[in-house]
This record gives sequence, structure tokens and C-alpha cells, in this order.
Amino acid sequence: MSEKGKLIVISGPSGAGKSTVVFKAMEGRDDLCFSTSVTTRKPRPGEVDGREYFFVDLDRFAEMIKNDELLEHAVYVANSYGTPRKYVEDKLDSGMNVLLDIEVQGARQVAEKKPDAVKIFIIPPSLEELERRLVGRGTDTARAIEARLIRARQEYREADFYDYIIINDDADRAAEELKAIILAEHCRAADRAHYLRDL
Ligand code: ADP
Ligand code: 5GP
Repeated sequence: MSEKGKLIVISGPSGAGKSTVVFKAMEGRDDLCFSTSVTTRKPRPGEVDGREYFFVDLDRFAEMIKNDELLEHAVYVANSYGTPRKYVEDKLDSGMNVLLDIEVQGARQVAEKKPDAVKIFIIPPSLEELERRLVGRGTDTARAIEARLIRARQEYREADFYDYIIINDDADRAAEELKAIILAEHCRAADRAHYLRDL
């Protein structure tokens, strides 16, 4: 692979289906990788350290910020989350497309540092469906679900910051849309200008 990879920033309310869609899109693809974030949130049942997240305490998180180990970081519903910088940069340099599943404040920080990042907002077909999915996922308390629904309404107001919106009604279709966006981004004229050099 000679081209540099694309940085794909994915946001959307918790429960929209971001991880479902991202992992579906990655199936059978060796050019896509997912950046595992660090968080101070406690693992949910079934979550494994190093797979869904690197689970750290507040001291370690503060140290990572101090050492400039994070590309971005933000607080979301009382927990801190951040993207380890080195993994992202190494993968992009090696030509891999890197997917970040991060909330809006983090997406804005990434866009400042990496203006070429592709910004995608994933939403469910309705807020009622979002609530059903959060309840159905069975990983959050009623209080946490309420907080996430309040936050979702705030996030919707920032949707115009993104380049693309995927409606996750059917997860297979949403994953196809995500792959189509990545494919189209690699066809940008600016990325292909070197083919015209000989003219
Ligand atoms: P997020 O990563 O955005 O927080 P998840 O991927 O954990 O969301 O999905 C939240 C819940 O909704 C999960 O239980 C998941 O299985 C379910 N889900 C995801 N996509 C769909 C879909 N298109 N239709 C129905 N349920 C879905
Ligand atoms: P959850 O606790 O449901 O896994 O994630 C809550 C929110 O944190 C989601 O909107 C998710 O996109 C966001 N998030 C996960 N990792 C990061 C990260 O590294 N940075 C930022 N800014 N947000 C993140």
C-alpha cells in the first residue's frame, strides 16, 4: 500500500449502533483497523480490557494527558475517554484506514489536528428506537440510560459538523454505507493527482 490511510471519525449517540456497524464493516477487511480507546469507565459485563477499551484509573489517565499520549480526550457522562496517539499515527503511516468511535468534543479536537479526517455521524432511525436499543443492550442502569438520552439530544444539535450521516436502521446496510464512504474518500481527486503527473 503506497497511500497513507484515512482517519475515519465516527460519532453518534451511545446506543446508535456505532460499534455494531464498525465491526461489521471491518469483517474480512485487512485495510481497516479500530483504535481502542482508554477510559476511566468501569467495564460492562462481558467487556474485556484491551478489546472494547483499555480500562485505566484517573491517575493513569491524567498521566497520559500530561505525557501527550492522547490524540484527543473528553469527559462523557461523568467518565473520561481518550484516543492513544501512537497507535493511530503508526497505522495511518502504514497505509491502514483507522476508525475512531468517539464523541463530539473529541471529534472536534481530532478535526483541528488532522483536518483530512473523515467525519461520520451515525444515528438510529428515531430517539424511541435509541431508548429501546439502550434498554435492550442491558448494560446500563436506568439512570445511565436517561443521562445518555439527554446527551443524545445535545449531540444531534452538532450533527452539521460531520461530513456524512449514516442512519443505522439495518446494521448490514449501515455497514455497507460506511464501506462506501471509505471507498469514495480514496477516490478523491486530490489523492489521485499523482496519476496525472505525466501529462
Ligand atoms: P454504540 O456503540 O453506538 O453505543 P452498540 O453497537 O453497542 O451502540 O449498539 C447498541 C445496541 O443496539 C446493541 O444491543 C446492538 O446489538 C443493537 N443494535 C445495533 N445496531 C442495530 C440495528 N441496526 N438494529 C437493531 N439493533 C441494533
Ligand atoms: P460507552 O461508554 O457507551 O462505551 O461510550 C460513551 C461515548 O464515549 C460514546 O459516544 C463513544 O463514542 C465515546 N468514546 C469512546 N471512546 C472515546 C475516546 O477515545 N474519545 C472520546 N472523545 N470519546 C470516546
